[in-house]
Amino acid sequence: MSRILIVEDEPDIALGLEDDLKVEGHQVEVVRDGVSACLRGREPAWDLILLDVMLPGKDGFDVCRELRRGGVHTPIILLTAKAQEAEKVLGLELGADDYVTKPFSPRELRARIKAVLRRLPSGGQEIYRFGEVEVDFARAEVRRNGHAVEVTPIEFKLLALFIARRGRVLSREQLLDTAWDRGTHVTDRAVDAHIVNLRKKIEPRPAEPVYLLTVRGLGYRFDG
Ligand code: CA
Repeated sequence: MSRILIVEDEPDIALGLEDDLKVEGHQVEVVRDGVSACLRGREPAWDLILLDVMLPGKDGFDVCRELRRGGVHTPIILLTAKAQEAEKVLGLELGADDYVTKPFSPRELRARIKAVLRRLPSGGQEIYRFGEVEVDFARAEVRRNGHAVEVTPIEFKLLALFIARRGRVLSREQLLDTAWDRGTHVTDRAVDAHIVNLRKKIEPRPAEPVYLLTVRGLGYRFDG
């Protein structure tokens, strides 16, 4: 269940995408031009932006550049009719996470969306540091004061998700969707138990967390 902003000026395509993603259980909103995309894209609510390249106002490349320069880290998938390699490279250099060429099948797009939403922190950073902690994505390792800390695969996935979405509230459902395989039966309480364990490994004082915060009634937020 993700919140997705669709930026697409062609009504038929926008409607098709909207329907398809809603059926998948996502919350979806549509804007139809580049200027609105720059405004709405800044909102921290989105998990993903699907961004058409050929748009009135500003094109998708401009929107992508502007959002990234403005510090927006939300994953972006570019939608374009242009299949040329140069366009693809430009989009990725401007900070898009992936690229889908029109016409695409709903199934292909779903697969790309899933891949992007599950991806470890974007931006190509291999090591993320906060406080005494270093998270090494290349080695799938967590170190504290230079010493390796043992984390389970689930804890590592949770930590990676928190880092990728730092500063934003993540619901238990979002954490479940990302860290556990679909079909695994996990309760909210199990999520909470993993958070407690993770805090013991990354927080200076686990009982009074400063990085991995509880947001009452909503979920958790990472401020590292
Ligand atoms: Ca278009």
